[in-house]
Amino acid sequence: MSQQVRRLHKTRYEPFAAHVVEGRPTVEHREEFCVINPANGEDLCTVAAATASDVDLTINHAHAVFTSGTWSRATPLHRSQVLTKLARALETRVPEFAEIEMKQTGRAIREMRAQLGRLGEWLDYYAALLRTQESFVAPTQGQLLNYVQRVPLGVVAQITPFNHPLLIAIKKIAPALAAGNSVVVKPSELAPISVLEFAEMAVEAGVPLGVLSVLPGYGPTTGAEIVSHPLVRKVDITAGTTTGRAIGSVVGRNLAAYTAELGGKAPIVIFDNADVPSAINGAAFACFVASGQTCVSGTRVIVQSGVYEEFMKGFLMKVESIRRRMGDPSNPSSTMGTVISPLHLSRIHKMVSSRSSSTKLLAGGEPMTGASDLDGFEFSRGCFYPPTVLENVGTEDELWKEEVFGPVVVVKKFETEAEGVRLANDSKYGLGAGIWTTDLSRAHRVSGMLESGLVWVNTHHRNDPSSPWGGMKESGIGRENGVEALHAYSQSKSTIVNIAPPEESRVKDDWFAESAEGKRYG
Ligand code: NAD
Repeated sequence: MSQQVRRLHKTRYEPFAAHVVEGRPTVEHREEFCVINPANGEDLCTVAAATASDVDLTINHAHAVFTSGTWSRATPLHRSQVLTKLARALETRVPEFAEIEMKQTGRAIREMRAQLGRLGEWLDYYAALLRTQESFVAPTQGQLLNYVQRVPLGVVAQITPFNHPLLIAIKKIAPALAAGNSVVVKPSELAPISVLEFAEMAVEAGVPLGVLSVLPGYGPTTGAEIVSHPLVRKVDITAGTTTGRAIGSVVGRNLAAYTAELGGKAPIVIFDNADVPSAINGAAFACFVASGQTCVSGTRVIVQSGVYEEFMKGFLMKVESIRRRMGDPSNPSSTMGTVISPLHLSRIHKMVSSRSSSTKLLAGGEPMTGASDLDGFEFSRGCFYPPTVLENVGTEDELWKEEVFGPVVVVKKFETEAEGVRLANDSKYGLGAGIWTTDLSRAHRVSGMLESGLVWVNTHHRNDPSSPWGGMKESGIGRENGVEALHAYSQSKSTIVNIAPPEESRVKDDWFAESAEGKRYG
């Protein structure tokens, strides 16, 4: 019997919106772009970018569906059941989705399998919150019953980046759908496939068509049309800080709500009393998972002088071991994949090459060519950059201050706790930070002093649907995850009922009566 081969993804995608699914024609021609595998230049598929009229039709329809109440006023139990069904459907497709993510981002398959295996948790978490969410009665004065409910916002827009394409989309989609909104997502033009596939699954699981739409395209065209649409009541983005500022000013003009998860430059502070082998493993994970393309990537490793030599010896051995075991991203033994594109590769390399003359390159520093030691894969076919470590970087240097978004780390020595904290906070960003110490008091003391939305102690980059995620300073505003995200996708609605008997109301509430005595105001 011949084995049926299941397609991994389509060769061509259209926007996932009701008017497209239902085959209604639009006049504008859709520009097409290709999604390229950064490991080998393979053309994965073409995608038709959503035009201005696609955006307008989709958002108007999303608004009409919202107003109809099919999802926005469905019972919490119903929405919860649909999200749970979607979580189970997603779980059955984890191997496929992991492969899609590996191909469109160039990230190692081991990373993508581990990440994708957890995504159902976000849908389950918000499904559970829906079942436990309670309204309250405000303790107002007088004969009034004031109950307060959470109601959805309306049409919400989500703009997502390339680095964790489906994880970040689901982090946003799950609370938005749970709250009852109509959601319009624009995935990164570099990696839109998994989000487009997921939207189809959502409809199959029972999310009404028009409640979750995915409009692929470029930021300055499709993205800008979406975020500026007057019917959009909230914009939630994960992007670079420059993009975050540009979108924020548009959103502000429309008086819409805004959540922005932006860039980072995470410090990893290693104290003399750290467990050094654990700190080496933890720092390597912080710095090089996703080829350093995460917003909480450990990019400034700050090490106390007493363990500097020991840490650096072990860290550089680890770096070499990671480099030696890089190979074809589809190889489960491959340690680290590519960066996202040739453009990013050259930007990263330019930043490393423009280092000051006093900066010392300890490892990496050149795009990779030649055959992999692991599996013979030819690195010059793709965007491979090795783990790169630099020492003697000044705090005014670009490599200290700016996000590289690649596997590039600067290392600095410090003497006192106060100096370590000062260096850690010496950044315009404030998203993630790591502390390595076995001193309990120091761990809590230093954590309290770090200007970061997330501080990990003796670990790094832990993420859970229940754990608030977001940045201080230029790393953004608002939080993902937790009850906070569900609240941010809803608004309170206060209903105030006069419960006094009519004979009392007739007297007390007649403000313009001939006699002003005993009248209530407010
Ligand atoms: P990017 O800013 O280039 O693009 C992100 C998204 O914004 C894309 O979908 C893009 O098309 C869209 N976009 C760009 N300009 C736009 C505009 N004017 N209007 C509307 N949409 C627009 O970011 P990227 O390179 O895809 O991702 C990397 C960045 O994301 C890094 O700075 C990283 O730190 C940040 N990030 C932050 C978090 C977090 O949780 N804080 C997580 C992951 C990534």
